[in-house]
Amino acid sequence: MKSTFICLSSIVVASSLNAAAADLKTVDDFSAAAAKANAVLTIPDWEQTPKAVEAAMKAAIAKANAALDQIGAQDLSKVTFKSSVVALDDVTYQASLAANKATIIKETNTNPAMRTAAENAVKAYQDWAVGVDYRQDVYKAIKAFADTHPKLSGEDEKLFKETLRDYRRAGLDLPPEQRKEVEELRKELSKLGTDFDGNIVKANAPVMFTKADLDGLPESFFNSPGIKTGDDVYTVMANVTWQYNTVEENAKKEATRKQLYLVRETLAKNNVSILNQMLALRNKIALRLGYKSWDDYQTEIKMAKTGANAEKYINDLVAGIQPKFDSEVAELQKMKAADTHDPKAKIMVWDWRYYSNQRDKQKYAVDKEALRAYFPFQKVLDGMFNIYQNIFGLKFEKIVAPYKWVGDLQLYMVTDSATGEPLGMFYLDMFPREGKFNHFAQFDIISGKLLPDGKYQRPTVALLCNFPPATGDTPSLMTHQDVEVLFHEFGHALHSIVTRAKYGRFAGTHVPGDFVEAPSQMLQNWVWDKKVLDTFAADYHDPSKKIPADVVKKLNDAKLANAGVYYRRQFAFASLDLALHDPHPEDMPYDSVAISNPILEKVFLPIDPSTTFVSYFGHLNGYDAGYYGYAWADAIAADMATVFEKARDGYLDKQAGMKLRREIYEPGDSREVNESIEKFLGRKQSIEPFLKKIGIGTQDKTRAPAEPSHKGK
Ligand SMILES: [Zn+2]
Repeated sequence: MKSTFICLSSIVVASSLNAAAADLKTVDDFSAAAAKANAVLTIPDWEQTPKAVEAAMKAAIAKANAALDQIGAQDLSKVTFKSSVVALDDVTYQASLAANKATIIKETNTNPAMRTAAENAVKAYQDWAVGVDYRQDVYKAIKAFADTHPKLSGEDEKLFKETLRDYRRAGLDLPPEQRKEVEELRKELSKLGTDFDGNIVKANAPVMFTKADLDGLPESFFNSPGIKTGDDVYTVMANVTWQYNTVEENAKKEATRKQLYLVRETLAKNNVSILNQMLALRNKIALRLGYKSWDDYQTEIKMAKTGANAEKYINDLVAGIQPKFDSEVAELQKMKAADTHDPKAKIMVWDWRYYSNQRDKQKYAVDKEALRAYFPFQKVLDGMFNIYQNIFGLKFEKIVAPYKWVGDLQLYMVTDSATGEPLGMFYLDMFPREGKFNHFAQFDIISGKLLPDGKYQRPTVALLCNFPPATGDTPSLMTHQDVEVLFHEFGHALHSIVTRAKYGRFAGTHVPGDFVEAPSQMLQNWVWDKKVLDTFAADYHDPSKKIPADVVKKLNDAKLANAGVYYRRQFAFASLDLALHDPHPEDMPYDSVAISNPILEKVFLPIDPSTTFVSYFGHLNGYDAGYYGYAWADAIAADMATVFEKARDGYLDKQAGMKLRREIYEPGDSREVNESIEKFLGRKQSIEPFLKKIGIGTQDKTRAPAEPSHKGK
């Protein structure tokens, strides 16, 4: 959907963005206020040539190595917290700045040679970073400090404990032979992971259909490049997601839907044996490191803490959503029964997209294209800025960007609106172009940290997005989904910028993986609320026209109508991912399909037994034993949203916003996130708001924070 690449030099951006540079402040205009707050503001020094990019990384790595040498070479009888644990945080922080900058260049530069140089620099960094854990001399210094049995508290204690935990997780406190074994197993696992990913990328499966087979598909599909490949021959690539989805959503013939599904869900079938080997290796590594299972190993550093906690949580949701899921499937079943004249027709896994789409068309028709008229980019951006500035007590000012990697790049300063304290900066690079990062994300460039000289480094971040560009006289018009994405991604930027954590590893969005999305997922609620939308969304032809209430209602109804099926599918993936990584006897071979297929069927819909869903499930390398995190964060997001929903001004409530800033954003991971969430909620966590949001009333279901069960050795 976001594949239109255009040359940005021709884009006319709305007038408020074009304020002459002379009118804008520079970062220097904030230096007095920064000095007063003992803070440092930094606009990165961007390299301009491929050579400079490579040299910058080389220099950063050399500097980091020298600093590591220094940690390792110190007199172990005099080792302190600062000279060991904090020094290591300093080194990894400094090195990560070089990696962050290279990443931005790789994802944004308009010169391919710069992007290649930056890609190499990022690789060099990654190779270096893996080795840091295995620096024996550094580990000895940390260990020597640990042996003094220091009395630390708060964030210091957390840094100390987690640094030791990292080493334990890397196998550093095992006897040399076992450590070597873990290292070898890891290398083997990483090689297999590369093969697994490679097979998914390479999977390529054209399926030929006649026009009659594809009855029901929109004309635009037949006209798409590459589809019509012969006289009444239409080629659908089962591995191309939009093509697959379009057929599954629209093809009237069940045989067509099923045929394409069978191909899709057996893609990269050779990955089954690779995955089986990967599971065995992960299990071995976990056992060697003293864990019961790989999911215990993976969840130890997350909110869930143990695989069993994650599993119980998903199982509770599976059960909780049962009535809603049943009623949705029953509705789809009725449609299929009428369609096929078979009262016993069952909704199979290749049916749900088609019948959901039919139902949505009949019941909730909203013209998504027409809706874009209410969302001109600049109005949406200004509107979101107004809301966030107001509820979080912040001020955003556009300032001069001394170097722009693209003409319409913007740089903003964020200050505290009450005190004028500068908090950080963000770049906005919002429109697509050739060679640019093609999703939507927030990137750290400089994260927050208390520097060794006692000053606080304020963060600088970037939002890289791909919103529809302006064309001719028409401004950039966003879809409702684009607006939701903007509210989400900008939430990450705020999380980064307002941080108060002392250490780099705890600052901003450096929080557990099953929590990091929750605050931003919560902010998505804003764009489904008419009161919020009315503060900025207006027809650009006639700004007195707001989005009609019945349209907002239909949007909400359509989302809710599918929630049971949507989430049960998510839960099925989460469940099978956890089941694959459950405790498993070391000498028993794995059969990943035999473990996962029955779960798909039990939690979601009937499948065809010949399929191997897991072979094409890319999350199993990288998000392994982590897929549950999506639902986990969704439930926290719904729970946190209640603080706003109960507040006087709802999603526009300043008191609730300030509480989010103080209790969630500012601490980051400097204290346990469970504590932060409960401070923000003012009560224990609950999954009830989540169940309510997806259409289920419940009795009170208090969500107990997960207790760590693995205490190490
Ligand atoms: Zn996100």
